Amino acid sequence: MTANAEVQAVLDRAADGGRITPQEALDLYRSAPLHALGAAADAVRRRRYAGTEHIATYIIERNINYTNVCVTACKFCAFYAPPKDTAKGWTRDLDDILRRCAETVELGGTQIMFQGGHHPDYGVEYYEKHFSAIKQAFPQLVIHSLGASEVEHMARISGVSAEEAIRRIHAAGLDSFAGAGAELLPERPRKAIAPLKESGERWLEIMEIAHNLGVESTTTMLMGTGETNAERIEHLRMIRDVQDRTGGFRAFIPYTYQPENNHLKGRTQATVFEYLRMIAIARLFLDNVAHIQGSWLTVGKEAGQLALHYGADDLGSVMLEENVVSSAGARHRSNRMELLHLIRAAGRVPAQRATTYEHLVVHDDPANDPVDDHVVSHLSSTAIDGGTAHPELTVIQAS
Ligand code: SF4
Repeated sequence: MTANAEVQAVLDRAADGGRITPQEALDLYRSAPLHALGAAADAVRRRRYAGTEHIATYIIERNINYTNVCVTACKFCAFYAPPKDTAKGWTRDLDDILRRCAETVELGGTQIMFQGGHHPDYGVEYYEKHFSAIKQAFPQLVIHSLGASEVEHMARISGVSAEEAIRRIHAAGLDSFAGAGAELLPERPRKAIAPLKESGERWLEIMEIAHNLGVESTTTMLMGTGETNAERIEHLRMIRDVQDRTGGFRAFIPYTYQPENNHLKGRTQATVFEYLRMIAIARLFLDNVAHIQGSWLTVGKEAGQLALHYGADDLGSVMLEENVVSSAGARHRSNRMELLHLIRAAGRVPAQRATTYEHLVVHDDPANDPVDDHVVSHLSSTAIDGGTAHPELTVIQAS
């Protein structure tokens, strides 16, 4: 069999739902024709969602950045301030956080993503206090937040095990973990960009503990900081192995590194083609993960639309606030009306989803679309302090 025929045979097997090995995934990632890769991934998506394959989902959420003070100093991060930099560092008080939650509810948001630095004083007690206050005031909001890195940090600060930390913040109101902090799980690229973060194995171990306690999560991949193709596939393998045991990862969300205002300047961002290949290979390789999310904050709207034809079934969020990747140069923004238009222009019917991916509103008739103009103007006149926040209604990657 020729090399091309071998690649096609693996693609055909994957498109039919067969499991592929890490080596086969790497071969496809490197050398399968782009459109053939996308077609195979789309076939898998269509079969998985037979009956609703015409739909692409989104969620309305608010990303609440509670502090940018962080002791972990990841080299790719343009958001954090070291504790001694009191001019750059900030924290939000509980009243401010609750006000943001109230605005989220008012604007039809269903999910809060609590995201911030590893503050040297924030142990389990800080998160218990804030999550319980949010849940008491807004029981309808889903707290889909944090990740294994925050658990490792808060458990260390409080002198408890990761399991106890997870049990306590779950009891206080955390519903599920976002995939933050996964970055790149293999040792070499992880150490190169986040030397003070826990290892990739430890990140997965904590996620596995969470899944076994009934706390599900999503998971991410940061592309374009100098990792090899083999390391990207190894990242997927590590996730798939855990998922075989727990089934707790709801979605996989790759996104691309943004090169501004951090210590990795000069490294190459992943190209749109690399990104689309990753969306497709993730759909084919991660046969045990239900949802693959297109991220267009970092790759752009057209790439987000294309991702829907390369295996993605979800296009992130209408997000009411975001500061982290925006600090590093992500510039792509839109409002809900534009998101609905983009999904339709990509040939899909948009549907607003819940955190757990049930369809809340299927927008199958444009005549019934929500009118968001008042939402956008309301947000534009809403003071969002904290320096770098973007007050408009934005659509970005959510985990
Ligand atoms: S990515 Fe997170 S953990 Fe790393 S420096 Fe930035 S805020 Fe801190």
